[in-house]
Amino acid sequence: MRNIKLQRGYLNKYNKPFVISGPCSAETEDQLMTTATALAKSGKVDMIRAGIWKPRTRPGTFEGIGEKALQWMINAKKETGLPISVEVANANHIEQALKAEVDVLWIGAKTSVNPFSMQEIADALKGTNAKVLVKNPINPSLSLWLGAIERLEKAEVEVVGVIHRGFTEFGDKIYRNNPLWQIPIELMIIRPDLAIINDPSHICGNRTMLHEIAQKAMDLNFDGIMIEVHNDPDNAWSDAMQQITPDTFTQLIDNLVIRKVKGENQTAHHDLEEYRRKIDLVDSDIIALLGKRMDIVKLIGEYKKTHNTLVFQKSRWQEIVDQRLQHGGDLDLNPDFVKIILKAIHDESINIQEKIMND
Ligand code: PEP
Ligand code: MN
Repeated sequence: MRNIKLQRGYLNKYNKPFVISGPCSAETEDQLMTTATALAKSGKVDMIRAGIWKPRTRPGTFEGIGEKALQWMINAKKETGLPISVEVANANHIEQALKAEVDVLWIGAKTSVNPFSMQEIADALKGTNAKVLVKNPINPSLSLWLGAIERLEKAEVEVVGVIHRGFTEFGDKIYRNNPLWQIPIELMIIRPDLAIINDPSHICGNRTMLHEIAQKAMDLNFDGIMIEVHNDPDNAWSDAMQQITPDTFTQLIDNLVIRKVKGENQTAHHDLEEYRRKIDLVDSDIIALLGKRMDIVKLIGEYKKTHNTLVFQKSRWQEIVDQRLQHGGDLDLNPDFVKIILKAIHDESINIQEKIMND
C-alpha cells in the first residue's frame, strides 16, 4: 500500500490540490488502461479512481464488473506508478479490495447514508491498515456524515479525508446533486483535521459546470478534487453526461486558480478563514433571497396595476412589521436593526411597484 500524503492543507509538488481521477466505472481492461495512462501522462493526477461495484439507483443498468476488474486496477497501478482507489460498500468488497492492495477505499454516498452499512464496514475494516475516504450521505445531514466518520474512527480505521459530492433533491434543479456548501464548510470547522475533497462530477451531472464548481471548491479551501475522466465519455457505461476526456481534464486542472501558498502555516488563521467563508455564503444567500423577494414584488406590482389597487396598504405593512419583529426577537436580533432592514426592503419594494404601475 502506497504512502498517501493527503492531509488538510495539502498542495502537491505542482502547487495543485490532491487530484483523484479516472472513470466512473471500470468497463474493460483497455478502457481503464487507456484512461489511466493518459491521466498519468498528464502529470496532474495523484491517484486513479474507478468504480468496480456500482450502486445504481435503478436496476437493469450496468452494475460494475466486480472482482475481475480489481486485476485491471492492479495492472493500471503497475503501469502508471499511481496509487489506486475503489468504492467499497460491504465486508466482501473490503476483503477483495484489501487483498488487491488497493491504496484508498472510498465509501459512497448511498452507503454513508446508512448507519447499519457503516457499522458493517467499520467492523470489517477494524484491525486492517486501510485508508478510507468518506463521501457525504445523499441527504443533507451533517450528523449522518459525521456519524459515518465516527463509526470508522471508533473502530480505529484511518479516515484520510472526506469527499463532498452534493445532496439529492427533488424537482427542477440546476445540479444533479445540490452542493449545499454550508454543510462541507461546517464539517471543516468541526473537523479541521480532515482533508476535504470536492467531487464536481457528481454535483454537476454534466460537463459544463465542472470548472466552476471545482474552482469554487478551491476558493473555499478544499484540499482536493475527485473528477471522472473517461477515454470515450460519450460511450461510457455509467455517468456518461458528466465524464470528460483526459485532454479536457488537463485543461480544467491547468485553469484552476489556487490561492493558498505551499508551506504557509495553514492552521494559524484557520478558524477565522472558515468563519469568513461561512459569512460569504450566508451573504450570498441573503442577496439571492432579496432578488427572489423583488421578483415577487414585481408580480404584485403587475397585479395591482391590472386591478387598480393602492401600492401602499397600511394594515398589510403593519402586519409585516409585527410578524418580522417577533421572528427577529426569537433569533435575538436587535429590533431597531430589524426595523431599519425592513424599511429599506419596503422602500425598494414600493419604488419597484410604483415604476411598474406608472409604466
Ligand atoms: C462514484 O463516485 O462513481 C459514485 C457512485 O459516487 P457517489 O457515491 O457520490 O454517488
Ligand atoms: Mn459516477
